[in-house]
Amino acid sequence: MKQLIMCYLGEMALKGLNKSTFEAQLMKTIRNRIRNLGQFKIYKAQSTFYIEPEDEFCDVDAAFEKIKKVFGIAAVSKAVVTEKDFDKIAEIAPVYLEDALKNARTFKVTAKRSDKSFPMGSLEISREVGAAILRKFHHLKVDVHNPQVTVMVEIRDFGAYIHEAKQPGAGGMPVSTSGKGALMLSGGIDSPVAAYMMAKRGMSIMSVHFASPPYTSERARNKVITLAEKLTDYTGDMNLFIVPFTTVQEYIRDHGVPELFTILMRRSMMRITEKLAQKFGASAIITGESLGQVASQTMAAITATNDSVDMPIFRPVIGMDKTEITEIARKIDTFETSILPFEDCCTIFTPPHPKTKPSLAEVIAAEEAMGLEELFRLEAEATAESEKLRINVQ
Ligand code: ATP
Ligand code: MG
Repeated sequence: MKQLIMCYLGEMALKGLNKSTFEAQLMKTIRNRIRNLGQFKIYKAQSTFYIEPEDEFCDVDAAFEKIKKVFGIAAVSKAVVTEKDFDKIAEIAPVYLEDALKNARTFKVTAKRSDKSFPMGSLEISREVGAAILRKFHHLKVDVHNPQVTVMVEIRDFGAYIHEAKQPGAGGMPVSTSGKGALMLSGGIDSPVAAYMMAKRGMSIMSVHFASPPYTSERARNKVITLAEKLTDYTGDMNLFIVPFTTVQEYIRDHGVPELFTILMRRSMMRITEKLAQKFGASAIITGESLGQVASQTMAAITATNDSVDMPIFRPVIGMDKTEITEIARKIDTFETSILPFEDCCTIFTPPHPKTKPSLAEVIAAEEAMGLEELFRLEAEATAESEKLRINVQ
């Protein structure tokens, strides 16, 4: 039996986008995500992408799991394809779906005939395939309203496709159809979720992580690499920049106003991220900030941080509770890594009483009092010494 994967494109997602750009990008993305899983032939017909294994070494099940995470796909199914011959269909359907049918009590068959030259109508196909299944599984009953298993038979141009009910795809838009963003990736729960959300809207992502060795450890760095690897399921191959932030941070500790330390530090982080973004073709910054979560994420603090750069800053989790963010983090499998307890650069040197409502004027005054020339020189040095890691799809 020849198994393949079918991806159905949602018409909604096409709004405002050039259809051929959208499809070409999606094709490229699919190819990239499953490239470690064998040789597949990928082609499009009738608003569906077909992903066919070329030999027996392909891992179709693993490819299916990867494809469920590709943005721009409305629904997916794992199907078996056969000739457009009724006897063949009736023979293969109960065999291919045996495991599901054996363990169910109720089922129905839904047939769709887009090839109108096929001699039987949809209702007739459904009825007859249903009868063939009942002959093989005597315990089953037909339930058209609430079946445990739905058997789909699609008569299409190139063959007859048999599969269970379609599963929802990842939705959204294909990565890279909405420009590129520079994600500030900490080791926390929120920023990986922010990456997922912007990738879902079609952004391609580069990540920037600030590390302050020896205050932050090798393990903290590895944790961020692991997070980036997990994100490639949604973003595809990605560059991760690790910025050596120690000297900048020490400079702010030694010359800044302690109550404003975190905000001054975040302004430096933003400036460096903006520089890297400009250099590597990104035109927005993405963070995992959530309003009111901590002192540096109040309205006043966010206003003061925003002011440090010109680029738009996207904060997709700004209005979400920690529980909502955590739910997504679990879904995208970053949560368990995020909660590993390693020190992040944001948690060192923090004052016991950070100011929650700093005025922009006092932040700017504190920054100027540190000596802008030296601060910017250290920032430029950190930017130049950033390490660029290529994180590939796993
Ligand atoms: P997260 O938001 O990822 O859970 P967090 O809760 O510790 O981390 P903050 O420390 O307040 O949040 O940081 C807010 C945002 O700033 C993060 O979501 C992330 O986008 C960015 N950020 C924080 N620390 C770093 C870092 N070391 N490198 C890069 N970006 C960072
Ligand atoms: Mg946070």
